[in-house]
Amino acid sequence: LVLPLSSVFHAVGLVQRGMGAYQRIDEALRLPVEPTGLPASARRPAGPPVTGEHPALALHDVHFAYDPRRPVLRGVTFAVPHRRFVALVGPSGAGKSTVFALVARFYEPDAGAVVFDGRPAAELTRAACRGGIAVVHQNSHVVHGTLRDNIAYAVPEATEEELRRVIELARLEEVVDRLPGGLSAVVGERGSTLSGGERQRIALARALLVRPSLLLLDEPTSHLDSINESALTTVLKDVAQECALLVIAHRLSTVQHADRIVVMRDGRTVAAGCHEELLTRSALYRELAASQMLRSGGDAVPG
Ligand code: ADP
Ligand code: MG
Repeated sequence: LVLPLSSVFHAVGLVQRGMGAYQRIDEALRLPVEPTGLPASARRPAGPPVTGEHPALALHDVHFAYDPRRPVLRGVTFAVPHRRFVALVGPSGAGKSTVFALVARFYEPDAGAVVFDGRPAAELTRAACRGGIAVVHQNSHVVHGTLRDNIAYAVPEATEEELRRVIELARLEEVVDRLPGGLSAVVGERGSTLSGGERQRIALARALLVRPSLLLLDEPTSHLDSINESALTTVLKDVAQECALLVIAHRLSTVQHADRIVVMRDGRTVAAGCHEELLTRSALYRELAASQMLRSGGDAVPG
């Protein structure tokens, strides 16, 4: 267990409620159970060394099928340089979440390569690949326990200073100030109420505490109000100062300031560029933008 002794009861709750999904995935793949996909020892990654010569992550013509009769990825190529913010967009079913599953090595490509910092994943152990990666899932759960437990989940020995750093990065100061007891406030089921955006930023703070070299974030499809949405947009820009950031975005407004946006359709990467470039270059991107009422260079119309 990875929680402090004072939280043994909460830890049990965490394992039972929060870990269910991972246990199921890991049982299916016969892998050891790893909280948030990361072994506790992975905080200072012993995995791919950060040389700066290679992108943090690259996919080269990746093909993949869950069922051999039905290909899901049919040529995915893109890279996420160190300290850059790359977004993955495209219609539902395009294969975006499957890309995450391959990067986290829950599955292996049928053809092509996933490369971490210049080193093909196939040549590395799963643990070494995951060592430097943190994942914030679409439905990031806050579990019953204190705010501190929730943030320090994967790194229970984190110092106050480390906690302060991620709280600031994830713009959670206001939440800490608002809740009676601050970091000791009990949140989650039966605890203080948090908005969807706040839950997501808690999950983000939890991931940042691990100091990953690559952070994957699957944006929730709904329930972000426009205040929380703009908070997330600002946070993502700061996060990319710390690590390589790959975000699956459902709202283009979240990612229109990304360094690079990769457009997927039917399992293929079909266009890439910044927001302005894609508006001129990609009919599909224009369609996605139009459907969300985004203006060129402007802000999203809330809603
Ligand atoms: P996106 O995230 O872009 O909406 P997904 O990667 O979730 O797309 O899904 C791509 C395709 O793969 C879809 O047709 C989906 O039904 C299928 N798929 C996703 N996960 C699984 C799975 N675990 N087993 C079988 N098919 C899956
Ligand atoms: Mg998805």
